[in-house]
Amino acid sequence: MSVAVPRTDGDHHVHSTFSDDAVSTVRENFEAAQRAGLREIRMVDHVRASSTHVPAMLAAVRALPPVAGLQVLTGVEAKILDATGRIDAPPEVLAALGSPGGADRVLLADHQVPGTDGPWSPSTVLRMRAEGRLSAADVVELVVSATARAVERAGRAQLAHPFSILPKVGSSEDDVPDAVLDDLAAVLVATGTPVEVNEKWRCPGPRVTGRWRAAGVALVASTDAHRAADVGAYRWLGGAG
Ligand SMILES: [Zn+2]
Ligand SMILES: [Zn+2]
Repeated sequence: MSVAVPRTDGDHHVHSTFSDDAVSTVRENFEAAQRAGLREIRMVDHVRASSTHVPAMLAAVRALPPVAGLQVLTGVEAKILDATGRIDAPPEVLAALGSPGGADRVLLADHQVPGTDGPWSPSTVLRMRAEGRLSAADVVELVVSATARAVERAGRAQLAHPFSILPKVGSSEDDVPDAVLDDLAAVLVATGTPVEVNEKWRCPGPRVTGRWRAAGVALVASTDAHRAADVGAYRWLGGAG
């Protein structure tokens, strides 16, 4: 990447066995962060509105021994449900963000397109587009406006892998106009919301990160690791930072 590479001595999105698709424990990820010489690691697990594992996950993270020079942060990853920016996380988890007993941030994910009546899967969106009921611009508008609303609702968010949904629905981040990027950047800056440059999803790319960095958005590196061996391993993002 030629522009706007964030520091790669942090990993701001690491999953543990509290996520059913991840294989390493909180402690194994923590030890991997030490081996990789990281300064920061954000321990994150998937939630839905019905999830009950967040207190146990936070307790496991808080039981880790302090290590000089390594800051351990927490979060929950939740999808944006609909065009109003509803977030698929337990209300009490969202209410506790940033409090002493709560997670630090909610990582907002575009795992589906946030539709007018709930999440739309890629196959649904592709069908609507084939039928002429939805344009590429409509999809971008839904994703961006729902993201901005979810950021404002959450108060303490981080964007997990912005625009990762677009290639799955026949679009790309190149379809997001500069003015739309700038409007979203204003919301991100006003709310102090960091944005991941996500190694696993390889997004957002240089155009978006360059524009957002220039606008004052805080960019953070993340691997979205689901196993300890991937913690802090940046092949795409590179070793600069
Ligand atoms: Zn995700
Ligand atoms: Zn993730």
